[in-house]
Amino acid sequence: MAAKLFDLTGKVALVTGGNGGIGLGMAQGMASCGAWIAIAGRNADKAGPALASLRELGARCTFLEGDVTKKAACVKLVADTVEQFGRIDILVNNAGTAIRKMPQEYTEDEWHEVLDTNLTSAFLCSQAAYAPMKAAGGGKMINIGSMMSLFGVPYATPYASSKGGIVQMTRAMATAWAKDNIQVNAVLPGWIDTDLTRRARREVPGLQERVQDRTPAGRWGVPNDMAGIAAFLASPASDFVTGTAIPVDGGYSIGM
Ligand code: NDP
Repeated sequence: MAAKLFDLTGKVALVTGGNGGIGLGMAQGMASCGAWIAIAGRNADKAGPALASLRELGARCTFLEGDVTKKAACVKLVADTVEQFGRIDILVNNAGTAIRKMPQEYTEDEWHEVLDTNLTSAFLCSQAAYAPMKAAGGGKMINIGSMMSLFGVPYATPYASSKGGIVQMTRAMATAWAKDNIQVNAVLPGWIDTDLTRRARREVPGLQERVQDRTPAGRWGVPNDMAGIAAFLASPASDFVTGTAIPVDGGYSIGM
């Protein structure tokens, strides 16, 4: 029963930003349940070891090069997934970036860079994936939010705006596409050790310790902590779960 609930055999997932960090952790979770995986990003060098780790789990997998801030690239990533694997059942909108400054210091271009990467790309990839998922009788979309979908911080106005937007976009699409048997959910990671947060720890003094002290689990997360939620939200186990925003944060969002 449990094996079948989480079985992704014959399913195909596209993970933007799946060549490292949280995206790769989620890709590995789905691969370990039998899914075939397309990972997308700009940096082909990072893709080699990522693909090797997915193959070790027995997955058929490929790297698709593309910049998700471009609409044509989003459309192509979905089309290439369908062309190479014959279908797309799962879309993980994970590609993301951050620029840390006080609100008064951002240029308009910086604002757009963060919003385009984190939010508009998720909208465009979801739009592109809708038709093939609907034609196949259903699908799963998983959007990556953040603790900043819930909280404000002084140094992340565009980032928090994009991640708040992810939650509302998730709810809106979930209501629109439920009748097509497409479940749309958001995951809100706590503080996870990745390239993105390694940079944050350099730029924000004391962050390492503050996060550790505030997280009830008493540690930072690792990409592998995201594997289980990906398997759940991609699988039949979550067929009646849609429009949610699920924290995976070691308790960060419920601690004092
Ligand atoms: P990483 O920097 O490790 O991963 C970000 C990924 O996004 C990279 O694989 C990168 O690939 C890809 N990416 C960035 N910009 C683009 C672009 N324009 N086109 C295509 N791909 C792009 O960071 P994380 O794993 O930490 O971040 C993944 C997601 O999780 C992000 O949405 C982030 O906001 C979110 N998140 C992270 C948290 C954390 O604590 N780490 C907490 C909460 C949310 P490439 O460089 O090859 O383009």
